[in-house]
Amino acid sequence: MRNGKKPKGIPLDSSIITVPKPLGSDVKPKKLVLPLHNRWGMLKLLVRPGKDVSRGQLLAEDERGVAPPVYSPCDGKVLGVRAWSNFAGEEVPAIILQCSGSTVQEHAQKDTGAWKKTDPHTLVKKVQKAGIRETDAYVWPLAWRLAQPGLPPTEIPNGPDISRPIEYLIVNALDRQPGVTIRESALSGRETEIAEAISLLEHISGTRNTILAVRKGQPISDSLERELRQRGIKVRMCPPVYPIALEPILVQYITGREIALPHGDARAVGVTVVDILTALRVYRSIRDNSPAFSSPLQLTIHGSENDYQTWIPEGILVSELLEQLQFNYSNAAKLILGGPLLGFAQHTFDVPITAEVDNIIIQAKPDVFIYENNSCINCGYCVKVCPMGLMPNELSRLCEYENFEAAERQFLFHCIECGLCAYICPARRPMVQLMRFGKREIGKLREASQEQ
Ligand code: SF4
Ligand code: SF4
Repeated sequence: MRNGKKPKGIPLDSSIITVPKPLGSDVKPKKLVLPLHNRWGMLKLLVRPGKDVSRGQLLAEDERGVAPPVYSPCDGKVLGVRAWSNFAGEEVPAIILQCSGSTVQEHAQKDTGAWKKTDPHTLVKKVQKAGIRETDAYVWPLAWRLAQPGLPPTEIPNGPDISRPIEYLIVNALDRQPGVTIRESALSGRETEIAEAISLLEHISGTRNTILAVRKGQPISDSLERELRQRGIKVRMCPPVYPIALEPILVQYITGREIALPHGDARAVGVTVVDILTALRVYRSIRDNSPAFSSPLQLTIHGSENDYQTWIPEGILVSELLEQLQFNYSNAAKLILGGPLLGFAQHTFDVPITAEVDNIIIQAKPDVFIYENNSCINCGYCVKVCPMGLMPNELSRLCEYENFEAAERQFLFHCIECGLCAYICPARRPMVQLMRFGKREIGKLREASQEQ
């Protein structure tokens, strides 16, 4: 795909894009569940069960210094560590915290501009220590993607190659999928904060070419436009097509550069992409000299006239959040974490919400889409729509019949799990579930062979 060529996908109807209503409630959790395992590995626990902890205390870290550490978002007590289902439905070890005392909400401090006088290497180490996890499944954590050549946040053997300067810093204000509008709404009402957050990332990364990606047709206030223009930050209007916001597609659309899949390291082609919500969390963490405890969330709840948005303490259970916000979910038929196309259906409401989740959907029975165990009818619609140029019909069959080697040969790991094949499939096949099943089984087989 050429730079600027509209990607394959489904058009988004801009006329029905609505801004979620802000919820003013200060959520005070009684219990938090903080997973110890994330996409970069397992963290080492630093506190014993039964011990009291204070807000901001380091609870677990990656001994290699790669994965973001975990801090206590509240004063409280460590009840224990046990296996718990995460946002993707995987059972992982998690710290169970009983909260007491002080609130977990972060309160805006006055920006003293101290970061402007701090060198980028010190700041990138602060980003690494801030405990920032992200919604997109990037190949390396944020600090590694922002570090200037030769200045990694920590010295580790066989770390990512950051020898190439960051030629493009793309701050992504596009929402990732239809129905999720939390990034779009983040741009209004906090113009200076947004501009400062982008300038901070530019300072850390040392780039001279920063682009704010927004949806074509999205209103940008005069004050934001002025702030960005004064700082030399360009705005790129992108066509309203799903899944343009996903990293490999966005990088190619804006720069014409192709990320080498399946590992997908944009840094290797001189590009770093940062979600606008992550940019805000980085800015607040550095401004307040505090770990990132909370993350923004959009709630889509059946029977409600509006969607809602709020900042939540990381690790709060969906059940407790809904109870505190006084949403009745007794008639709910399905809970999805992470949005309608990219999300994961859950088997329990006692699942913790972490920064990987930007949207929760609670559906009533009539809204639930039922997948069926039908055979593929070879209509070819999924092949036509796949933005990665794959053959989803073949891949789904290979995963279904556990022919994983062949699926890998047919580029299973190039699948970005956008869900378009499932959306279009007239046979209602569970395409994404089959791809995810294949990837997980291959991962398990690899782990088993390494242990032998
Ligand atoms: S195969 Fe993967 S990338 Fe292609 S349409 Fe399906 S989910 Fe999207
Ligand atoms: S859209 Fe569904 S039925 Fe059609 S080829 Fe793809 S998997 Fe088969």
